[in-house]
Amino acid sequence: MKKKKLIALVAHDNRKQDLIDWVEYNWKELIMHDLVCTGTTGSLVANALEKKCEENNMVVPSITRLKSGPLGGDQQLGALISEEKVSMLIFFWDPMQPQPHDVDVKALLRICALYNVVTATNRATADFVVSSSLFHQDYKPIIKDYSSYVNRQV
Ligand code: PGA
Repeated sequence: MKKKKLIALVAHDNRKQDLIDWVEYNWKELIMHDLVCTGTTGSLVANALEKKCEENNMVVPSITRLKSGPLGGDQQLGALISEEKVSMLIFFWDPMQPQPHDVDVKALLRICALYNVVTATNRATADFVVSSSLFHQDYKPIIKDYSSYVNRQV
C-alpha cells in the first residue's frame, strides 16, 4: 500500500549541492510524497523537481517552504515534528562550519530523537532510507511514553 508521508528536506549551504544531487537521483520516489523544506533549500529542491517533472511530463508537486533555517525555519520544522506531522527528515548539515543558528540545529536533531522521526544526516543514510520497503508504506513510529514526566509532581 502506498502511503504519502511528509518528508522534510534541509541542507546547509556547503551541503546543498549534495542534497540536490540526491533529490535529482530520487525524484521519482520523492514526488509521491509531500515535501517541506527550509526556505533556501526549498527553492533549490523546487527547481530540481520542476526540471525533472517537466522533462518527464509529470505534475510538479507543491513544496511547503518555511522560513530560511537561520531565520526560524529550523524551529518551524521542529514545531511540525512536535505535532507529529513529519515522517522523516533528510538533513545534510555541515560538520565543517559553525552556523549562526547552531542552537536551532541541535534543537531540530533533538526533537527528531524525541519523536522517533527517521533522520538522515548524510547521503549514505538517505540512500538506505529511500530504498527501504517502508519508504512508501504506512509506518507509525513508536513514541516513548512521557506521561510520568508530564504528570510529575512539581
Ligand atoms: P536554508 O536553511 O534552507 O534556508 O538555507 C537551512 C538551514 O540552515 O537550516
